[in-house]
Amino acid sequence: MSGYTRILVAVDFSPAAEIVGRRAVEMARRHDAVLHLVHVVDYLMPLGFADDFTPSPAVMVDEEALLEQGRKSLHRYAEKLGCADVSQSVVLGAPKQEIVRLAREIPCDLIVIGSHGRHGLARLLGSTARAVLNDAPCDVLAVRIGEEGETDKIKRG
Ligand code: AMP
Repeated sequence: MSGYTRILVAVDFSPAAEIVGRRAVEMARRHDAVLHLVHVVDYLMPLGFADDFTPSPAVMVDEEALLEQGRKSLHRYAEKLGCADVSQSVVLGAPKQEIVRLAREIPCDLIVIGSHGRHGLARLLGSTARAVLNDAPCDVLAVRIGEEGETDKIKRG
């Protein structure tokens, strides 16, 4: 098997995110690969706020402030994992689409993602992991988060 060279890690800052990150760091060491961290700010403008309706200042969201907050959080996360110098992206959008888009753009040969995070029910594959497994241009390592520890599922791309 040829080794991985570029690994994309999907970070949602849920309690599982540290387990996902540690597994990615371990994979990067094992394969002598470069890591790239991504966090997607999945704020969505409520329907009806587009074009013909100008929201009042109270409900306007400063997207740049959300991105900046995400960058700071991702940097702290990377420091905690001992990899503060790796490349990091914080983007606005739908997590499943942005993770796959970035994996193509970089391009990466492995995506490391949690089996579930904020939206997933324990023991079921979360919606983000499921969508990424379906659409990814490369292998996906879904780190399973369970009471007994983690196990991995790898889909070969
Ligand atoms: P979920 O679909 O919420 O159960 O999340 C499953 C996994 O998808 C998480 O463990 C993360 O690895 C990834 N993920 C979910 N939301 C995001 C996000 N906003 N940014 C980056 N990765 C995410």
